[in-house]
Amino acid sequence: MLTIALSKGRIFDEAMPLLAKVDIRPVTDPQRSRKLILPTNQEDVTLVIIRANDVPTYVEYGAADIGIAGKDVLMEYAGDSVYEPLDLGLARCKLMLAGPRDATNVVGRLRVATKYVNTTRRYFAAKGTQVEIIRLYGSMELAPLLGLADRIVDLVDTGNTLKANGLIPLEHIADISSWVIVNKASMKMKHVRIKAFVQQLAQIVEHG
Ligand code: AMP
Repeated sequence: MLTIALSKGRIFDEAMPLLAKVDIRPVTDPQRSRKLILPTNQEDVTLVIIRANDVPTYVEYGAADIGIAGKDVLMEYAGDSVYEPLDLGLARCKLMLAGPRDATNVVGRLRVATKYVNTTRRYFAAKGTQVEIIRLYGSMELAPLLGLADRIVDLVDTGNTLKANGLIPLEHIADISSWVIVNKASMKMKHVRIKAFVQQLAQIVEHG
């Protein structure tokens, strides 16, 4: 059996056509089903639908052999490592530091609101800047508007969300895209199957 974990939304929508090209298709319509475990046309392959942040956890513990996860989630994940054999190049965006268009210099410690607490801490530590990090779970762009924080760290794609809230991108932290991740034990035990899967995907990513 091969279990592939991924989250609904942009990653799912962009990964499905890719999986179809390696002949993996859910047998029921995932958009209509509330099922979290989706059998596929390949008897030995199952898709599991979980929260994006949980994908590395399922893969690390071997509950799923393979996962598809955003680099933002992987950078933030504090658990032990998983293999990251392939950048699928899907759901591309950037992790950015952003702030008010009319920001003045902040006296004292900068307050940065984000759900990427670990990544933000590492980023500022590497620059040798002390900041206060405020953990949020969503709608980060609200924080500077309401005076909760001076800056935010969030994903930026078109930049429209920032713009609509009077914010501008200030510093590029990382390029983000979706990666294939693999459980370490699975990579050994199911080496032939997983290697073939990753190679097939890599071909498609490279040549379409
Ligand atoms: P945009 O307005 O196009 O810059 O998109 C920014 C909003 O979409 C923010 O709320 C982000 O958290 C979210 N976002 C942008 N790109 C992605 C992505 N690849 N995956 C998940 N969320 C994203």
